[in-house]
Amino acid sequence: MEPLGGGGWTGHAGAPAPGWTYLLPLLLCAALRSLLASPSSEVNLLDSRTVMGDLGWIAYPKNGWEEIGEVDENYAPIHTYQVCKVMEQNQNNWLLTSWISNEGASRIFIELKFTLRDCNSLPGGLGTCKETFNMYYFESDDEDGRNIKENQYIKIDTIAADESFTELDLGDRVMKLNTEVRDVGPLTKKGFYLAFQDVGACIALVSVRVYYKKCPSVIRNLARFPDTITGADSSQLLEVSGICVDHSVTDEAPKMHCSAEGEWLVPIGKCLCKAGYEEKNNTCQVCRPGFFKASPHSPSCSKCPPHSYTLDEASTSCLCEEHYFRKESDPPTMACTTPSPVSSVKKGKITKNSISLSWQEPDRPNGIILEYEIKYFEKDQEMSYTIIKSKETTITADSLKPGSAYVFQIRARTAAGYGGFSRRFEFETSPVSVAASSDQSQIPIIVVSVTVGVILLAVVIGFLLSGRRCGYSKAKQDPEEEKMHFHNGHIKLPGVRTYIDPHTYEDPNQAVHEFAKEIEASCITIERVIGAGEFGEVCSGRLKLQGKRELPVAIKTLKVGYTEKQRRDFLGEASIMGQFDHPNIIHLEGVVTKNKPVMIVTEYMENGSLDTFLKKNDGQFTVIQLVGMLRGIASGMKYLSDMGYVHRDLAARNILINSNLVCKVSDFGLSRVLEDDPEAAYTTRGGKIPIRWTALEAIAFRKFTSASDVWSYGIVMWEVMSYGERPYWEMTNQDVIKAVEEGYRLPSPMDCPAALYQLMLDCWQKDRNSRPKFDEIVSMLDKLIRNPSSLKTLVNASSRVSNLLVEHSPVGSSTYRSVGEWLEAIKMGRYTEIFMENGYSSMDAVAQVTIEDLRRLGVTLVGHQKKIMNSLQEMKVQLVNGMMPL
Ligand code: AMP
Repeated sequence: MEPLGGGGWTGHAGAPAPGWTYLLPLLLCAALRSLLASPSSEVNLLDSRTVMGDLGWIAYPKNGWEEIGEVDENYAPIHTYQVCKVMEQNQNNWLLTSWISNEGASRIFIELKFTLRDCNSLPGGLGTCKETFNMYYFESDDEDGRNIKENQYIKIDTIAADESFTELDLGDRVMKLNTEVRDVGPLTKKGFYLAFQDVGACIALVSVRVYYKKCPSVIRNLARFPDTITGADSSQLLEVSGICVDHSVTDEAPKMHCSAEGEWLVPIGKCLCKAGYEEKNNTCQVCRPGFFKASPHSPSCSKCPPHSYTLDEASTSCLCEEHYFRKESDPPTMACTTPSPVSSVKKGKITKNSISLSWQEPDRPNGIILEYEIKYFEKDQEMSYTIIKSKETTITADSLKPGSAYVFQIRARTAAGYGGFSRRFEFETSPVSVAASSDQSQIPIIVVSVTVGVILLAVVIGFLLSGRRCGYSKAKQDPEEEKMHFHNGHIKLPGVRTYIDPHTYEDPNQAVHEFAKEIEASCITIERVIGAGEFGEVCSGRLKLQGKRELPVAIKTLKVGYTEKQRRDFLGEASIMGQFDHPNIIHLEGVVTKNKPVMIVTEYMENGSLDTFLKKNDGQFTVIQLVGMLRGIASGMKYLSDMGYVHRDLAARNILINSNLVCKVSDFGLSRVLEDDPEAAYTTRGGKIPIRWTALEAIAFRKFTSASDVWSYGIVMWEVMSYGERPYWEMTNQDVIKAVEEGYRLPSPMDCPAALYQLMLDCWQKDRNSRPKFDEIVSMLDKLIRNPSSLKTLVNASSRVSNLLVEHSPVGSSTYRSVGEWLEAIKMGRYTEIFMENGYSSMDAVAQVTIEDLRRLGVTLVGHQKKIMNSLQEMKVQLVNGMMPL
């Protein structure tokens, strides 16, 4: 074959511009490059336009098809093959591609772009000129097809031009580029060759693109469908299963169909964002704090309903605010509410002195109704009202005036507290029948006056005799009165007040009434819930006993549905408390056992439990104030130990503190004391013990004595001086026991007077007989308070630190790799540079840091100083099993 530009059939074609065939690719290249990007659902197996090097195609015979070695404007090769033997008879020119892998596709597409010369446009109307060529393929698993014979190739099609170009076209520089696409399948081998056969046409094959089609990976209905190669058959729909995206769940199995054209069709089923997540941009996004999604079927995260909250991400429901409730059967979208008001009140029997009422339980009580409070007053006399409490939904208000209107309001109480009062209901008592005759009109008045007089007299006498009426049902026990009691099988001598274990009473109710006064429920006004005890809620309120001034009180209630044992244990605390009378022991006012709920009424301690109070007021007190608190506790404990009572659960959480900062020991009980303490852990021997507060011998063999209470007192001292820090921080109970057994003890709290820390260490003597007694502790604290300068010597921070280091490995070396990492971890990263600049570049060096050093380094904020020193200390404690060797 002659070079096309050098003459060839161009010579027969008349007088086109010289070398026009060379021009052809250049004119086409811009248009071609713009067509380079194939649709995303098509995957190219070969694109001759993008091959930078040799295509490796073979022409047979060698003078048939020819490659034009041209480059485009970017010097990229343009692989164009030409043949134009229109003047010669019997042409059979083959162009074979190299082996093309089908990449697993069973149906492939071939797109040809070519120009084909119109035979009529050739001068002389050549009889040998053809206007078609043929395309073939041959399948093989590897590149061995090059040598096979022509007749083994399978014909795909005869290719003709839809458009053909003419000289005129060329003159206008308008190129007609034919594009033809054929498909082949099903393919069964790994790859194939293509072949183009020319039988005497004038062709320029500009590009060959071979591709298969796929349905591209897509997310639909929250299910991810993978890239899917289309089926072998052109009408085949492939069913593909989807996989739910992260944080979603299957609603109905997601499926789609991949068409032969690479399009996804007919989605079926779907995934839904799971509870706590919502759909956004085809993904499931977490619900932010303050929002929730209860179920996959809810459309999106919703704001927490009124009076509820959540602090977590991915919440599936919101928690009710304190004192607000939601029934278990309520959906999480429901607002939390306080009990709902009683709405329907009906009158029952009415006499001239009484009105009976009944009402329905509120529709939405939001919990179990503990009782109803019925307030009533004579119409227009609102300032003078009466309150009745009832567990039933009926009451009778008596001692009313005849023929008078009374206003009633009712409210319910649940664990959430009181609901709102109902609207006002007005009912009238029956009138006194008035005699018709005016002569006799005086008689009823006299009768009534006499009757009233008699009744009044009876009431007064009754009152004087019974001592009742908003007071104790039992005359106040003479505190001086002594009785003979048996305690642990020994007779206690009169004159020595001793604690009596209520267990020694056959009938526990008798013990309660021996030591606790019965209070009429009507003398108590409950105001609000202040805490939760093991047996029910703890409320604050007021106690008004006849002839006494009103007192603020704490009221512990026994929840409804209690067992007999629970009632006994609940009242057991009162039986114990009632035996004590000391300014540093919580004072029992009395009990309510005749009405429900059963209550224990004690003096009110405004500042609540000591540990919480100290944490809230970190760093706010002088040392003398703290020692004053400790002195009070020691004094209460001295009293208890004198009484022969061993507390077993002495801890700051069980000390209450009032508005004058007076500390009082509380939380008395029988076996249950430890049962309801969340700090108490079961020991191997089955008992429940608050390990961190308990002496070794009590943990090891349950030897609870006043000496073991002294150990606990030492821990309370440590809690007080460190403002409610948790003893032994986050060490496990097992580690605490091990360390304490090995002789380690808690290090001194920050800024702690040396004398106090020494006292703590004394309380933690292994030999319980070597520990101070409570009376000695009280005397020692008194001495310190009298001589405040003795409190000036503090335990030196650096000596605390080095003490811990003397025996043990360098601090922190196994915990933090660098000073920077450590400071970052405690959110003090801002000081890293200062530490490094001042030579504290290793954890060993840091171990020597004192408070003074910190100040010198410019760490002036007390909170930051504390944080750094505490962390240092904590690290060391953890590292060396914590504590200072005795
Ligand atoms: P308790 O069941 O004794 O542990 O009481 C539970 C919580 O109620 C305590 O932690 C206190 O916050 C509070 N509390 C108990 N008794 C009183 C009281 N007498 N005065 C004030 N708060 C109290």
